[in-house]
Amino acid sequence: METMKKGAVFLVGAGPGDPELITAKGMMRLNDCDAVVYDSLSSDRLLALAPETAERIYVGKRAGRHSMKQEEINELLVRLGNEGKKVVRLKGGDPFVFGRGGEEIQALQAAEIPYETVPGVTSAVAVPESVGIPVTHRAMSRSFHVMTGHTLTEGETLPPDFPAFARLSGTLVFLMGLGNLHPIVEGLLEAGKPADLPAAVIENGTLPEERLVRGTLADIEEKAAEAGIKTPAIIVVGETAALDMSSTLRRPLDGIQVCVTGTESFSDRLIRSLTALGAKAENVCRLGLKSYSGGPEMRRAYGNLSSYSWAVFTSANGVRLFLEGLLAAGKDFRSLGHLKLAAVGRGTAQELRRWGFLADYVPDRYQVEDLAQGLTELADGGDRILIPRSRDGSHALNEALEAEGIPYDDIVLYEVTAEWRERERLAEILGQSQYLTFASGSGVNAFFDGLTEEERRGLDHIRIVCIGGVTARALEKRGRKADIVAETYNIPGMTAAVVKDAAISGNTREKR
Ligand code: SAH
Repeated sequence: METMKKGAVFLVGAGPGDPELITAKGMMRLNDCDAVVYDSLSSDRLLALAPETAERIYVGKRAGRHSMKQEEINELLVRLGNEGKKVVRLKGGDPFVFGRGGEEIQALQAAEIPYETVPGVTSAVAVPESVGIPVTHRAMSRSFHVMTGHTLTEGETLPPDFPAFARLSGTLVFLMGLGNLHPIVEGLLEAGKPADLPAAVIENGTLPEERLVRGTLADIEEKAAEAGIKTPAIIVVGETAALDMSSTLRRPLDGIQVCVTGTESFSDRLIRSLTALGAKAENVCRLGLKSYSGGPEMRRAYGNLSSYSWAVFTSANGVRLFLEGLLAAGKDFRSLGHLKLAAVGRGTAQELRRWGFLADYVPDRYQVEDLAQGLTELADGGDRILIPRSRDGSHALNEALEAEGIPYDDIVLYEVTAEWRERERLAEILGQSQYLTFASGSGVNAFFDGLTEEERRGLDHIRIVCIGGVTARALEKRGRKADIVAETYNIPGMTAAVVKDAAISGNTREKR
């Protein structure tokens, strides 16, 4: 019976970098786990595939933080397994290619924790491929050999089998070799490789930041240094390193860089939609929602629903959290039957509809001032209005209702929290990007609240995309006009708006 309580560890290959290069099986394991243990080589974007409730444990190296020792990682996996959890151990590339996955398996075996390995696309093959270098090619390279360049520094000498390796005729691929590029090149030349043998170094292959340097054994070191190539990087040496079979498909957002803000799941879907069309896109400010639907104020509101005649919603998230909280409070939707419902805009009304409610009132122009105006015409002193919304809600609503003597309860249902991604690089990333997207008014507020004066000035060149009118209005209050407002208030609508704008500004760029 004891084994029944044990969880399981899934050693999942995350692929070489591009999050879409995980396998279907790896994705399924991520979709259904209790914890993810990951390191720097596995894309953050893959984490969005894990359930929101799953624990995310970072064990890699990142600037300023200590990395966990391998033994500690082994212990962690055993502990989580013993706690009965389904654990995904996400590893860059394939788990068994220089990933120390084998050691993790041995620890799990010793502790008798059930495990499964899920193979991944290894960078050894995929990274050269991403820049158009095939590791084998008919009549040119009939084998490929993968070696770690990491152990080379031990005693400052090449390992004894290096000359034998260097004499192989196929394509030679070095992982973790950038720091030892010099001894590697020297060793290859000494073993008799010609100085004009093609070589390439690829940094961050398959990712938006991918960089490639091509050369020969004679000059690759100098060229890589000149370009300032950093890790993670792969070195490829052999005839095929001169080939260029990189994709020729051109897409509407090639060369376009987009900064995305929003919740993890929203951003992930928008990024996927943009990158499918060729854009580089990343989340710069991840929004989270802290719900107070189980707090004392909301509990009281759920308990007194019969005292209200209207409920007013100012965001789709508000609708969702309110209704989920209602169910969690042990009531169902019958308790709302007597209420009239107002929504600030179309997105909010759509969310109501998704749950089976039609809004009784949506203002023509989607802003809180219009909502307030409309409500004062529809309601009077005999009504009582429930306004469950975010902490940063506009006071215009309260003022209008107070002026007309209409009783209301404005209750904090949730709070928007902002987590910055790579805050140190924010100005740089914004500077490189042509577009910045917002999907909610609270997102606008969280973003601008966190910005320094200098960063704010750095936004002048960027074109701002808003999902809809409410978001655009929130932006305007921050002294900035939206450059683009999506025609349909969803991810395809935002994507289409960027494509359309990029085509227009692309044309004007060409004309100049
Ligand atoms: N298990 C991984 C390799 C882990 S060793 C795999 O199968 O791909 C880590 C090394 O892999 C890095 O030092 C680098 O040499 C290489 N690497 C991994 N991802 C890379 C990427 N996107 N671009 C360039 N090199 C990469």
